[in-house]
Amino acid sequence: MAASEHFSFNEMHMIKRKSLGNVVPLELFRSIRLIGMYQGLPLNGKGTTSVIGKKIGESLPVNTVEDVLQLFKELKIGIPKVLHQDERGMRIAIEDCFCEGLPVHEGKFVCDLEGSIFEGALIKILKRNVSVREIKCNVNGDDHCEYDVRFM
Ligand SMILES: [Zn+2]
Repeated sequence: MAASEHFSFNEMHMIKRKSLGNVVPLELFRSIRLIGMYQGLPLNGKGTTSVIGKKIGESLPVNTVEDVLQLFKELKIGIPKVLHQDERGMRIAIEDCFCEGLPVHEGKFVCDLEGSIFEGALIKILKRNVSVREIKCNVNGDDHCEYDVRFM
């Protein structure tokens, strides 16, 4: 079957490598995220992470907010817990975030890409504009990572 010009999220499941399987170490993901994107791009990658995250979020095969939360756990980004929800937005804590255990750098919030993935998925699901901002991060010294979600 000929593939289309674009990659889809479902194609990401098509894995056939024989020895190394379907998992790469967290060190690699962290290196891409923090050494490559956070340190390597201008303004710690802000702007770029927003575009990348939203693009990934839009591509996820999800139809409900619960689907996204479930997929975040399946993809081992972290375990999301809804702390608060009303008509104006949500507060979501991420336990076991990919950044857990890194040395503390006060003032650094490094899980913006993951927030943008959530943002892109919510925009697609809710068909309205949504803004997701990281307000707590393990790396900043907080006891978990947390997103403030605003429905606009
Ligand atoms: Zn984090």
